[in-house]
Amino acid sequence: MAYISRRGFHASTRAMQQMYDYVVIGGGSGGLASARRAASRGARALLIEGQHRLGGTCVNVGCVPKKVMWNAASIAEALHNAKQYGFPNVQGDLTFDWQQFKSKRDAYIQRLNGIYERNLNNDKVEHVQGWASFKNNNTITIQPPEGNAFEVQGKHILVAPGGHPIMPAIPGAEHAISSDGFFDLEQQPKRVAVVGTGYIGIELAGIFNTLGTQTTVFSRTQHILRSFDPIIRDNLLKEMQSVGVNVAFDTKVQALVRDSPQGSIQVQYEANGQPASLEVDTVLWATGRAPNTGKLNLAATAIETNKRGHIVVDDYQNTSVPGVYALGDVAGNYELTPVAIAAGRRLADRLFGGPEFKDAKLNYDNIPTVVFSHPTAGTIGLTEQQARDTYGSDNVKVYTSRFTNMYYAMLEHKEPTAYKLVVTGPKEKVVGVHLFGLGSDEILQGFGVAVNMGATKKDFDNCIAIHPTAAEELVTMR
Ligand code: FAD
Ligand code: NDP
Repeated sequence: MAYISRRGFHASTRAMQQMYDYVVIGGGSGGLASARRAASRGARALLIEGQHRLGGTCVNVGCVPKKVMWNAASIAEALHNAKQYGFPNVQGDLTFDWQQFKSKRDAYIQRLNGIYERNLNNDKVEHVQGWASFKNNNTITIQPPEGNAFEVQGKHILVAPGGHPIMPAIPGAEHAISSDGFFDLEQQPKRVAVVGTGYIGIELAGIFNTLGTQTTVFSRTQHILRSFDPIIRDNLLKEMQSVGVNVAFDTKVQALVRDSPQGSIQVQYEANGQPASLEVDTVLWATGRAPNTGKLNLAATAIETNKRGHIVVDDYQNTSVPGVYALGDVAGNYELTPVAIAAGRRLADRLFGGPEFKDAKLNYDNIPTVVFSHPTAGTIGLTEQQARDTYGSDNVKVYTSRFTNMYYAMLEHKEPTAYKLVVTGPKEKVVGVHLFGLGSDEILQGFGVAVNMGATKKDFDNCIAIHPTAAEELVTMR
């Protein structure tokens, strides 16, 4: 029912009021995975995506282009270190060509958009470009980019529309960009202010700084990455400061002033109750994200949302309306791509996989996650404080290790590495692993498997170390 054009994909005229086994709203991480799994189990599935490109946040303005930029920043680090590693000729002009690299990155994303399209076709998932809204609990109206709106019905309906960046309403807010705008930047700013110190603020500030932009991060508290274990947030903070990121604590950004469209921006803020200002070329809000429910007309349904606007779901992704499900960022529980994908696949298994999968659901405990900072940080399970609150301080023990990765033996600037294991009970079951330092992003996955299997400290110790690596510290901690 859908055909591809150069500008995207459009509904054919045949697609008028049809009944599907599965109607999926949102062609991002969760929606694509769930629709494909449903179709592979024999369901007639329709995927509706409002934008002209498939892939959602992760592919277009999230994980993928972010990781490409992080890789570029990592290359810059390696080039800066090359001379100290015996390459005397690697000096010269290390200027990063932002504009040229952006074109290359955009072309890669476009290729991915095409691959997602082909995957849907191969799996026989029907798909249409248009914005979906509820007419009632089980009828969806689709407004394509051209032509008239039409209706479809689903025996089962999945709502997976993702989220969008929050931009605080202060005077001059329009002069700032969000993470979406980061990926549109044609030129590298010389000076940037990043407001917010969650995943996005820390990752994008790290990329800017490593590529040579003078970077100031505004935190409204004394911390960065507030929800992470102190071994990560304190060590990362020190490292960011030591490589030149200016972190402004206890600040409240109050207004942005710009005299001309291309001119610099004056960030007016309050620091410890005193007025202050900073001149920069770009201001980036990284102050959190909100669910994309605005276009859905949820008022026409009995679907419940919570105070933050997320759709309320149970352990099986059921909403308050039978036959309607929600997952991914719109449900607000771990806003990560692999979580949306896993929840989407398990839901499709449960709905269309037969008796073997009648109880399929995602277990939201022990989800590993990484911050692509410089260096990276990874975490799974409980922070030390969460473990003390859960099990009582007497039943919790922590093992920590701080050291310098051998990579830095030849370098003047030595990034720290710091690991913490949180264990509980007489058997010392590992309930938290917190990693900071070079390679933490890659190291965590395997330890995540161990934690999910219920490994104890002894199990860790029984595994022979791999030498010389950083990860070996995790199996030799005292
Ligand atoms: P999305 O992927 O956002 O897909 C939702 C889709 O629904 C969108 O394409 C949207 O256009 C469409 N839509 C919305 N409303 C409608 C409607 N009414 N009708 C039709 N279509 C609609 N996660 C990680 O795991 N690792 C990372 O490194 C990482 N980095 C990130 C970096 C950034 C800058 C950002 C912003 C996010 C990052 N994330 C990362 C988070 C990850 O991108 C999201 O958790 C994930 O994309 C959520 O998937 P989803 O399916 O819920 O929604
Ligand atoms: P987060 O919720 O992680 O962080 C928001 C930050 O903004 C916090 O530091 C918060 O401060 C601060 N903040 C909120 N409101 C204001 C305000 N009015 N003024 C100043 N600061 C403010 O959201 P992000 O947008 O960074 O990321 C959204 C989600 O996307 C993440 O939770 C994560 O799930 C996902 N993501 C995952 C990535 C990965 O896997 N590597 C990478 C990027 C995103 P405070 O700490 O005080 O609350």
